[in-house]
Amino acid sequence: MAAPVSLPAAQEGSALIRVRSVSKFYGGAKVLDEVSMDVRSGEVRCIIGPSGSGKSTLLRCLNALTGFDSGAIVVGDTRVGYTERDGRLLPWTPRQAAAFRSRVGLVSQHVNLFSHRTVIENVIEGPKHILGVPAREARERAAELLARVGLSDKHDSYPIQLSGGQQQRAAIARALAMQPHVILFDEATSALDPELVGEVLAVIRQLAAEGMTMVLVTHEMRFAAEVADRVAMLDRGRLIEDGTARQVFSAPRSARTAEFLSSHL
Ligand code: ADP
Ligand code: MG
Repeated sequence: MAAPVSLPAAQEGSALIRVRSVSKFYGGAKVLDEVSMDVRSGEVRCIIGPSGSGKSTLLRCLNALTGFDSGAIVVGDTRVGYTERDGRLLPWTPRQAAAFRSRVGLVSQHVNLFSHRTVIENVIEGPKHILGVPAREARERAAELLARVGLSDKHDSYPIQLSGGQQQRAAIARALAMQPHVILFDEATSALDPELVGEVLAVIRQLAAEGMTMVLVTHEMRFAAEVADRVAMLDRGRLIEDGTARQVFSAPRSARTAEFLSSHL
């Protein structure tokens, strides 16, 4: 594995996430190609692009689910994947990666609730066992979060008893319970029946209004145009567009983005 580059010293404004020249290979294929991007605190950042362009891989790098071959990612003060000691970079242990991951929530297309636990147990699990929150406090906070996503009446249901939209909202409550710095959404609505998409988007919209920092990979272009502050487009692992939602949707810089948008509106 190539050495990760050292970070540029300059601090760019209030960027919560700094991605710098990140490249990643799977076998011989370069799936992320020198990607650089900032996400500011409180920003909703959408990532769009065709299937296979590296969107999921980028999110997985952001929350240390997978490593990358060169470049650097910094979230807050944390250098993702490495601990600096005596001027050297030591790769994280699985335990360090897991601890970091809990503060960078990922809600993916395929709901991954624990099927043998009730909804409220799913939300309590992380705070209790990873953050060490006392059981009673964890339960009170879980109840608040479930109310926030409209699931007050489902505490004791099992995931299989919920609709897809309800499961996704429970997954969002579970991510929020870890008091994340940022939540990453990977096509969180694309496996849902069309009539259930709106209720999940409503929760995301509400989080945006509350100032939650979010990175959304989505094919819902209308929603992206409505909720995103900034939009980036990936194409074959390269970040070919990066601008405000207004700029990207109304006047994309590249012909590739224009073509992609016209086929998705
Ligand atoms: P997107 O989310 O934009 O559809 P992905 O990040 O899932 O794209 O995939 C980017 C590329 O990396 C694709 O060519 C995909 O086949 C490849 N890829 C993703 N995950 C793996 C993996 N675990 N092993 C090998 N190749 C992978
Ligand atoms: Mg994907």
